[in-house]
Amino acid sequence: MKIVVAEKIAGAAMKVLEVIPNSTVITPEQFAADPMAAVSDADALIVRSAVQADAALIEAARNVRVIGRAGVGVDNIDVEVATRRGIVVMNAPGASAVSVAELTVGLMIAMARHISRADQTTRAGKWDKKNLQGTELSGKTLGIIGLGRIGTETARRAQAFGMKIIGSDPYLAPARAKELGIELLTIDEVYAQADYLSLHLALTHQTSGIIDAEAIAKMKPGVRIVNCARGELVNEAALEAALRSGHVASAALDVYCEEPTHNEGLLSAPNLLATPHIGASTREGQEAVGIQIAKQVRDYLMQGIAQNAVNLPSLSDVEFKQIKPYMALASRLGRFAAQLFASNLAEIDVRFEGEMGSWKTQLIRSTAVAAILQSESDEPTNIINAQAAAEERGVVVREFRTEPNARVNIIHLKLTGPTGSVECSGTLVHGTSPRLIALNGIDIESHLDGYFVVVANLDAPGVVGSIGTLLGNHGINIARLSLGREGGKALAIVQVDGMVPPEVLTALRHATSVQRVSSVKV
Ligand code: NAD
Repeated sequence: MKIVVAEKIAGAAMKVLEVIPNSTVITPEQFAADPMAAVSDADALIVRSAVQADAALIEAARNVRVIGRAGVGVDNIDVEVATRRGIVVMNAPGASAVSVAELTVGLMIAMARHISRADQTTRAGKWDKKNLQGTELSGKTLGIIGLGRIGTETARRAQAFGMKIIGSDPYLAPARAKELGIELLTIDEVYAQADYLSLHLALTHQTSGIIDAEAIAKMKPGVRIVNCARGELVNEAALEAALRSGHVASAALDVYCEEPTHNEGLLSAPNLLATPHIGASTREGQEAVGIQIAKQVRDYLMQGIAQNAVNLPSLSDVEFKQIKPYMALASRLGRFAAQLFASNLAEIDVRFEGEMGSWKTQLIRSTAVAAILQSESDEPTNIINAQAAAEERGVVVREFRTEPNARVNIIHLKLTGPTGSVECSGTLVHGTSPRLIALNGIDIESHLDGYFVVVANLDAPGVVGSIGTLLGNHGINIARLSLGREGGKALAIVQVDGMVPPEVLTALRHATSVQRVSSVKV
């Protein structure tokens, strides 16, 4: 067995590979001398982020069965080409979760005890004890937004400091939160109660700028904020203003909208603690990533166990061609449904109607589940790891097949949580073009690409007119309008050219007979 390690990984990780019986490990130096020749008869390829496992390299690697990425993002690997070739691509998520969680707790302590200022003043010859009185973490409430791998690691550590943990994560099942000792609340309740607020959610178009002036206004005066997730989650101008006004007592940032950051205003704000995106940068974190990927590659080569695979196992060309457009439909339908869903996700039902029920639907189902879970994560939740990601969150996934003789193939999705559900159905027109055909029991046909405003209203005259007038008054062009109604309830799906600003959504919500308004991007 020949394993090519294209970039330097920890020595302990190399050892994992070297002891595989009958294996030869090609070092980064040997790879660099002639990459194409090095991979030509290899069984496995391991990269970090610099080497591009592009179509040319993958084509040259005729025998490669697995590509391992020592890290999380797989942007440097052409996953589609690898998938078609039946090559499993795997990454190593979560290996740095402890490192990031420890930095988060460190930053909270540093803020509570003014450690940075204490260090600077003491070394400057001052003995500034009276201005350095701190507070304890014990007895304080930590609000965590995003309870994935890092959020839950942070919760565990903060609990050890005697903090009360509250949190918000629409995709975490309430039972799992209970197990973790976390009180699951709405985001506004977290804002209202938290003494410390720590962000651990992914950056998506829905979470970008989530901490803005409006959110900060809902927080307790004197709140302390930590962001070790992604810079764009925070509106930096709003945070700077709140630090200057004192509404936010202090903030600790490891990530910024622009990196390296040049935001002088923010950096000069009082009580700001800044670190240069070092959350995952620990010896142990980097070593853990290397060892994890080496073990996964070993287990795949020796036992066929694919952990943290980001793509699908090989399919015949015919099978792949048949299911591919339905995977696209499942993905769009999943994204659409997830953005309308406003409860804590507990169950996903996927129902296949028509001939497709006799196909290998696992990949279509996984695509839908991945799309639903992906709307809350910037990490690759995908067809291979979707089921595991659902299980990790305590979300039950069920698959049904109905009406095998129906002429049209239809995918039905239902997302259920303790306070509500969303149901939608879709099909393909012209063989490849995804369409929504029903939403929450109402027949309604809509394209599934671009920006939408979905309005649920009472079936009364004048509603459509007022929606059109309101959007028109704000200079928003309607590209397509779909209407449906059933038993006194009505729906309008308005396709628009771009994201509708929050103030327009608020105005729509106040229009007569309107019950719910959601913004969706597919
Ligand atoms: P994860 O996918 O395990 O967890 C993210 C969680 O956020 C999920 O549980 C998801 O359900 C939740 N979420 C999504 N939308 C939400 C919303 N609107 N409100 C509340 N919760 C929401 O990811 P992770 O591995 O824990 O990483 C968390 C963040 O940390 C990511 O943004 C990641 O990019 C960042 N990160 C930073 C560093 C660093 O060096 N500072 C290192 C690794 C990861």
